[in-house]
Amino acid sequence: MKHLLPQREQYFKASLHTHSTVSDGKMTPEEVKAHYKAAGYSIMALTDHHIIAAHPELNDPDFLMLTGIELGLDSEDYAPPASFFGKTYHFNLIAKDPDHLWQPYPPKKILDKNRAHAEKAHWDQRERICSVECANEIIARAREEGFLVIYNHPTWSKQSYPDYAPLKGLWALEIRNTHNVLNGYDDNNHRVYQDLLELGNHLCVVACDDTHRPHTVGGSFTMIGAEELTYASVIEAMEKGDVYASCGPLIHSLTLDGSTLRVACDPAAEVCVQSQARYAKRVAGEGITEAEIDLSVWLEKSQGNPNAFFRVTVKAADGSYAVTRAYYLNEL
Ligand SMILES: [Zn+2]
Ligand SMILES: [Zn+2]
Repeated sequence: MKHLLPQREQYFKASLHTHSTVSDGKMTPEEVKAHYKAAGYSIMALTDHHIIAAHPELNDPDFLMLTGIELGLDSEDYAPPASFFGKTYHFNLIAKDPDHLWQPYPPKKILDKNRAHAEKAHWDQRERICSVECANEIIARAREEGFLVIYNHPTWSKQSYPDYAPLKGLWALEIRNTHNVLNGYDDNNHRVYQDLLELGNHLCVVACDDTHRPHTVGGSFTMIGAEELTYASVIEAMEKGDVYASCGPLIHSLTLDGSTLRVACDPAAEVCVQSQARYAKRVAGEGITEAEIDLSVWLEKSQGNPNAFFRVTVKAADGSYAVTRAYYLNEL
């Protein structure tokens, strides 16, 4: 029997997209941490706009800070009407080395409130242009520098298939963004994930709050199956794909025994499997905590296909959901 999510005493709840007063957030880094700690989180990346920052002063034995930045590939004169009608690309970069304070372009503005971070950062002199070429250059460069790249909120960014299909080298897609959902956008990006996978990309999935104010705290989260709460261990788990995304239900275990997939989860109304093929399965009911799904047809028909995958979605009665990454035939 194979554990698709590693068995751990604890999965660590993470906020991987968070803003503070270092950019346009309304809470100080200390205040943001206090809110997330109270909501049961153990990991937080402060990904302030256009400025990389480490916050080691906020680490404690039960809470780990990841070094990050949110990039926005808006033109330099990003202002109405372009900012109102235009498309953009936003990416979060998470540093594999907490002290590597690099960014691909200079901070947009150096203000008193972020000067201390700007003085520690170093940067390339790349332009920020909203083009797929610029996006791919920045992703490739960020990977070389040792960053995991997350593709943020494609719905809010007004992106459609031609904008995201050519993207290469992403570590994960932000499948849900609480801040945008609470502002009225349907930033639930299941279709984008399926498209990127069907194009042959192997990438993970995360769910984030994009917190600027307290009301979004805890709406979405990423569970990380790290061995221990250390920077190296958490990054290792993220790179291995030992993560899942949720805005409600937890997944307690995910195993494949021969051709039988077993899902143990918080009470759910549906457990669904989708694949690279025209093949899906659904178990529906009331308060499902264990689902058994026979994948023998998918296994048989996918033999020899290096991009054959399946992924699992757990939907609760209130509409909240958990999503696993894609699992590939050659890792089963
Ligand atoms: Zn953004
Ligand atoms: Zn953001």
